[in-house]
Amino acid sequence: MASIHSLGFPRIGHKRELKKALESFWSREIDEKALQSHAAQLRERHWRIQQTCGLDQVPVGDFSLYDHMLDMSCTLGAIPPRYEFSGDQVGLDTFFAMARGSSTQPAMEMTKWFDTNYHFIVPEFHAGMDFHLASDRIFTQVKEAHALGLKAKPVLVGPITYLWLGKEKDLQAEARHETQHHHDDSACHGHAAPAGNACFDRLTLLPKVLPVYAEILARLAELDVEWIQMDEPALVLDLPQHWIQALDTAYRTLSQSKAPKVLLATYFESVADHAKRLKALPVAGLHLDLRRAPQQLDEFLPEYPADKVLSLGVVDGRNVWRTDLDAALALVQPAHRQLGHRLWVAPSCSLLHTPVDLSQETELDAELKSWLAFSVQKLDEVAILGRALDRGVESVATELASARAAVASRHGSPRIHNPAVAQRLKDLGQDDGRRNNPFPVREAAQRARFKLPAFPTTSIGSFPQTPEIRKARLQNRKGELSGTDYQKAMEAEIALVVREQERLGIDVPVHGEPERNDMVEYFGEQLAGFAFTRHGWVQSYGSRYVKPPLIFGDVSRPAPMTVAWSTYAQSLTKRPMKGMLTGPVTILQWSFVRDDQPRERTALQIALAIRDEVKDLIDAGIGIIQIDEPAYREGLPLKRKDWDLYLHWASRAFRISAQVAPDDVQIHTHMCYSEFNDILPAIAAMDADVITIETSRSQMELLDAFATFNYPNEIGPGVYDIHSPRVPGVEEMVGLLEKAVSVVPAERLWINPDCGLKTRKWAEVTPALENMVEAARQVRARH
Ligand code: GLN
Ligand code: ZN
Repeated sequence: MASIHSLGFPRIGHKRELKKALESFWSREIDEKALQSHAAQLRERHWRIQQTCGLDQVPVGDFSLYDHMLDMSCTLGAIPPRYEFSGDQVGLDTFFAMARGSSTQPAMEMTKWFDTNYHFIVPEFHAGMDFHLASDRIFTQVKEAHALGLKAKPVLVGPITYLWLGKEKDLQAEARHETQHHHDDSACHGHAAPAGNACFDRLTLLPKVLPVYAEILARLAELDVEWIQMDEPALVLDLPQHWIQALDTAYRTLSQSKAPKVLLATYFESVADHAKRLKALPVAGLHLDLRRAPQQLDEFLPEYPADKVLSLGVVDGRNVWRTDLDAALALVQPAHRQLGHRLWVAPSCSLLHTPVDLSQETELDAELKSWLAFSVQKLDEVAILGRALDRGVESVATELASARAAVASRHGSPRIHNPAVAQRLKDLGQDDGRRNNPFPVREAAQRARFKLPAFPTTSIGSFPQTPEIRKARLQNRKGELSGTDYQKAMEAEIALVVREQERLGIDVPVHGEPERNDMVEYFGEQLAGFAFTRHGWVQSYGSRYVKPPLIFGDVSRPAPMTVAWSTYAQSLTKRPMKGMLTGPVTILQWSFVRDDQPRERTALQIALAIRDEVKDLIDAGIGIIQIDEPAYREGLPLKRKDWDLYLHWASRAFRISAQVAPDDVQIHTHMCYSEFNDILPAIAAMDADVITIETSRSQMELLDAFATFNYPNEIGPGVYDIHSPRVPGVEEMVGLLEKAVSVVPAERLWINPDCGLKTRKWAEVTPALENMVEAARQVRARH
C-alpha cells in the first residue's frame, strides 16, 4: 500500500474562523478558554477533512494560533529575556507579546518564510543561552487527535532549519538601549545587521537545542506516536558547509534517543546536492518536493536505502491549479515499482499556502472552477494517486478522466490564449526595453521641463485610507452607492489630498490612491487574464490573511485603469502630478500565477499591459509616473545560482513597462525593504529616473551601498518611518538628509517618506509632511 499523507493543512478555517476568534480574544470579547475551544474545533474539523480524504495519518502541530516558528521557539523555551518569562509553560500572554508586542515591549521581528508570502516570527539567539521544554502544546494536541481516534503525525521544525532561520542578538547592546546601527557588528553573514546583533555563530547552540528535541521525541514515543515529521526546508538553500555537516550530528543524536520514526521533510526546491548525505542519514524517511524540482528524484531513487520511506510531493502546495494526474502518476510510478509500500504520496509542501476549499467558490464560473484545486481538493488528488498505485489506474479511471478533461480544457481554452498578446511578445523579440536615451540626456530634458527645486519633495503615493473611503467602497460594492456617487466621493477625496499638498508645498504631488483597495487587486480587477475568488484566503501572518488574484490567462489591458483619476488630479494643480502604477514583478509576485508557462512570460505580458497604461498617461499629459516594485526583491529564487536569470527578466519587465516614456517623462520606482546590497546592479538595470526607498529606520545607512556602488540615477531616501504614528521633528529629518548629502551628490537627492501613507491618520500625516517640507527648505538653504 502506498501511503498518502499531508505535510500540513491551512489553519485559518473555511470562514476565517481563526481570525475572528483571535481578534475577539485580543479585544477581550472572549476569554482564553473560548479561544482555545475555537482552536480545538478548527483542528478537529481539519483533521476530519483530511481523514475523509483518506489520509492514513493526520499532521498535528501544524495548527498555530499565530505562527509555527513562534510555537517552536516556545516549545524550546527560546523566549527573549525582555519578555520576562518565568515558570515552566509559556502562557498565551507571553506568546502574543512575542508575536504582537505588549505595552512594554515591541514584538519580535517577522520575516518571509522562504519564497512564500507567509511571515514567521524570527527566533532570537544569544551567546550562552539555554533551551528547555517550555510548552506541552504538541503533546496536548497529539492526545486530542488520539482521543478522536486519529493516527497523529506530529510536525516540528527541525533543528537545522530552526537555528538557521533565527538571528544572533547581543543582549548587552540591547540592554544599553542602543537603537542605532553600528558599523563594527554589521558584518554578520555579509549583510547589514540592525542594533543588538552579535556575531557568534548560532550553530554553536545546536548541542544545547538537541537535548530538548530528544526530550520531545521521547515524550511523543511514550504517546505511541509512530511517525513524526521534521521540516527541514532550510536544506534547499545554499547553506554553508558546516551547517550541512551539522545535519549528521543532529539526526544521529536524535536517532539515539527512544524516538518515533522521523520523516525529514524538505520542500520549495531541490536537495539533490545533498542526496548522498540525506540517504545516509539515520532517519526513517525523506520527503521531496517534486513540483518545484522533479529532476531531483533521479539523485534519490538509485540505491534508495531499504530502511527508508520516500515521500514524494507531486500535488502543488503553492498554487491553485488542478493537478495533471497522469503526469503526476508517471512521476511516482517508477518509485512505486522500486519501493512498493515504502513510497508515500503527498502535496509538495504544507497546504498552508493555498486556500482552504474550492467548493465555497459559488461565484466562479464553472469552467474556470474546473481548472482549480484548493487544499481539500488537493488532498482528494493525493488520494486518487494513492488508489491508482495500490489498485491500478482502472480503479480510478473516472477520476483520472475528469482530471484529464480539466487539464485539456484549460490548455486549449480560448480564454487562456490571446493571439494578440502572443504576437506582441513575439514582436518584442529580444528587445531589452531600453529607453531612447541614456539617463544623463533624460535628466537634462526632465530638468528643463519640470524646473523642480533642488531636493524636490514628493510622497510614495497613498494618503490615509479613512473609514469614510472604505465605507464608500463597501457601499459601492454592495450596490448601495452608485458608480457616479462613488466616483464623486473619490474625486472629493483626491481634491482634498491635492489641496493639502499644495498648502504644504510638496513639489511633486500625488492623487492619494483613495480608489484602490489594494495595489495589486486594483489592477488585477481591470486586467484581462485575472480572476478573483470570494474565499481564497491564505495566511500572510498572524491574523492577517490575503486573497491573491489568480492569473489564469494571457494578460492584457482592455481599457485605461488610472488615467481618469490622474488627469482629474492634474486638473487641480499646476505642479506635475505623479501618476501611480504597480509594476509587473509585484503584480506577478502577489498573485497565484499560471503554471503552464514560465513566470518570465507572464511578467512580460503584465509589463506590456502596464506599458499601455504608461503610454495613455503620457498622452493625457502626465509627465511623472511611478511604477512601484516593492516585491522586486522577494521574487529572488531560493538558490543563488538562479538569481541572475531572474534579475535579468525582472529588470527587463520593468524597463519594458517604462520604455515608451520619452526623455522628458520622468519614471519613478519605489521599493521598501532593507536589503539592497546584493541586488544593486539589478536595481540600477531597471534604469528608473528616480528611485524612492525605505531608509529612515536604518538611519540612512542603506544609502552607503548606493553610494559605494555609484548608483547613477536620482534617489529619494525615505526621511521618516511611516510604520509608526510618531511624527518626526524637522531637525531629525535634516540630520538624516545631511547624512544623505554626505554620500550621494546633492543634485540627485529627493525628499520623501519611507513608504505610502495609507495606514496613517491625517493627524499624523499633516504635521509630519509639514516638518518634511520645512526640512527640505533648510537643507536647500545649506547646500
Ligand atoms: N504607491 C503605494 C502606496 O503608496 C506603494 C506601496 C508599497 O510600497 N507597498 O501605498
Ligand atoms: Zn513602500
